[in-house]
Amino acid sequence: MTAERIDGKAFAALLRERVGALAGQFEQKAGRKAGLAVVLVGEDPASQVYVRSKHKATVAAGMESFEHRLPVDTSEADLLALVEQLNADDAVDGILVQLPLPDHLDEQSVIASISPDKDVDGFHVTNAGRLAVGQNGFVPCTPLGCMMLLTDRLGDLSGLEAVVIGRSNIVGKPMAQLLLDANATVTIAHSRTKDLPSVVKRADIVVAAVGRAEMVKAEWLKEGATVIDVGINRLPPAEGEEKGRLVGDVDYAGAEGIAAAITPVPGGVGPMTIAVLLRNTLVAAHRNAGLEVPQSL
Ligand code: NDP
Repeated sequence: MTAERIDGKAFAALLRERVGALAGQFEQKAGRKAGLAVVLVGEDPASQVYVRSKHKATVAAGMESFEHRLPVDTSEADLLALVEQLNADDAVDGILVQLPLPDHLDEQSVIASISPDKDVDGFHVTNAGRLAVGQNGFVPCTPLGCMMLLTDRLGDLSGLEAVVIGRSNIVGKPMAQLLLDANATVTIAHSRTKDLPSVVKRADIVVAAVGRAEMVKAEWLKEGATVIDVGINRLPPAEGEEKGRLVGDVDYAGAEGIAAAITPVPGGVGPMTIAVLLRNTLVAAHRNAGLEVPQSL
């Protein structure tokens, strides 16, 4: 068997197109563009790349992008004051504070200061709580993107065995919650799980969100499983390479012979994250403007 490659890049491009079209309709109805504010503190190179691509994608989708770049020594009071100002700004539908923050800033306090109705990253405890009890809120972008890929491929997930490896607040836990809401039978595995290979073996759906290069081996998988690989790991450079290759948490080459479908790294889950961020922002814009959220979002 050669597994089908789940093309997250193509799926994300379609989602961005759809969001772009609906963003145009929103502008006509609301008399303004949907707006996303992104706050970056400091000059972490990876964060700068993420913020730049979020800005470009927001503008390309016909939405307003408000970028706030603050110096690395910004005080918590100043950062909280900016978030307050954005909370009160009617042109801003979504607020994203790029993580990680410099060490002297408390991430939890900063996330808690964002209005839950503008928390398009879905990290606020109110949104985590809404997800847990099945209310409408904002779901973190990466797991929601994984869920879109899964339902696109499998349709109804009822009764399927799903194993999520990793229990972080931004990926593993919300992923498990979404799968449970879709009536899958869900196991959450983590670093203390005993005999992980046999836990993974029973899964029709495996979501790997660990951060360990190619940890999940082909022989752990059940024949015909659908595998979503969230991990992004850079291998040490091989001879003659300037930078090492990017790989996921799953041994892709091996898994291809056993799984029915698998997301590649790169080009799988990664591109979904920004597309879902744009989607969440447009949902926030409709809610903030008192307009009905389009079904196709
Ligand atoms: P965290 O480091 O917060 O969580 C990792 C999880 O993996 C923890 O729950 C940890 O368990 C578990 N774990 C660690 N080692 C093992 C092991 N040997 N066996 C089983 N479980 C283990 O990471 P994130 O959730 O933030 O991210 C996970 C991966 O996804 C990373 O590679 C990250 O780069 C990537 N990522 C990709 C995104 C994308 O857009 N594609 C977005 C976000 C993340 P324990 O809780 O017991 O410590």
